[in-house]
Amino acid sequence: MTLLPGDGIGPEVAAATVRAVDATGARIHWHEVELSGAVIERTRQSVPDEVLRSLDDTKVGLKGPVTTPVAGGFQSVNVALRKKLDLFANVRPVRSFPGIHTRFEDVKIDLIIFRENTEDLYSGLEHEVVTDVVTSLKVITRTASIRIARYAFHYARTHGRRKVTAIHKANIMKLADGLFLRCAREVAQDYPEIEYKELIVDNASMQLVMRPETFDILLLPNLYGDIVSDLAAGLVGGLGLVPGANMGQSHAVFEAVHGSAPDIAGKGVANPTALMQSAVLMLRHLDERASADKLQAAIERVYADGKTVTPDIGGRASTTQFTDAVIAAM
Ligand code: ATP
Repeated sequence: MTLLPGDGIGPEVAAATVRAVDATGARIHWHEVELSGAVIERTRQSVPDEVLRSLDDTKVGLKGPVTTPVAGGFQSVNVALRKKLDLFANVRPVRSFPGIHTRFEDVKIDLIIFRENTEDLYSGLEHEVVTDVVTSLKVITRTASIRIARYAFHYARTHGRRKVTAIHKANIMKLADGLFLRCAREVAQDYPEIEYKELIVDNASMQLVMRPETFDILLLPNLYGDIVSDLAAGLVGGLGLVPGANMGQSHAVFEAVHGSAPDIAGKGVANPTALMQSAVLMLRHLDERASADKLQAAIERVYADGKTVTPDIGGRASTTQFTDAVIAAM
């Protein structure tokens, strides 16, 4: 198992998660490798060789966030890693949590985001045509669109989910989003038992806020998937909670939806739940089912009790106090 603590709040939530996973009794051998803004600057590699070597060896990683410089600087490490390992599916389950007070606590939210993870406006192909005129290429291919659609529908079939909603803006981007949509429709035909719907991304955003309980599986190209993930996280209590998995043919890297949260880094108050729940997904992937259930149940017990939660959830507990409570609840 490769452990990439990242930077910002990454090392804090990663240390907490390792403690919690080890306390379940799962036999995980952690191979820790540094992946941070500092190491990228030093090695001048978007993903240092040591990270790739370790992941090639272990095939499975647990990753904290890595800061991406805004409007300049090096390429996003997160994007580079997903491309290098061809982690084509970004899967993000978003569920209401008992004990967490939100504006939406009367509805039960249980949706899963399937975000295409390798192309779209994340191609990084930007160009200054002349001074003050730039273009940014949105790349959509049939191969990647069919692949993410199949992954989402296959998941729906094998996990008893009822509906897939493809989200797009094909009324404006007729070619690019049109191709994404055609691929989704084509794949949907092979899954007649799964209801298939389409929504334009602006309308989808409103529907998610008005009627979040009506959504099941969401299928999105890369950029809409990114934005809608944070929106969906906001429905259930924020970025401190929502986990994720980056899945490829041969590798899997589990990481929270949130970024490096520089505003709270080093203060000992980051919520490690999102990375802990990413570790639950990782344990399931490794077929360590008993440990996964144990960790998930312990996290839920701490929230149901409500006394030891971090400031983002309205509590006063530190990262360490929350982690102690999770371990005590096992
Ligand atoms: P990125 O672009 O790298 O995904 P971002 O701009 O979305 O990052 P985040 O770093 O995810 O920003 O943080 C957004 C807000 O959410 C910040 O105010 C941060 O404090 C809060 N936040 C994110 N993760 C956590 C967490 N684990 N615990 C508490 N607060 C968090």
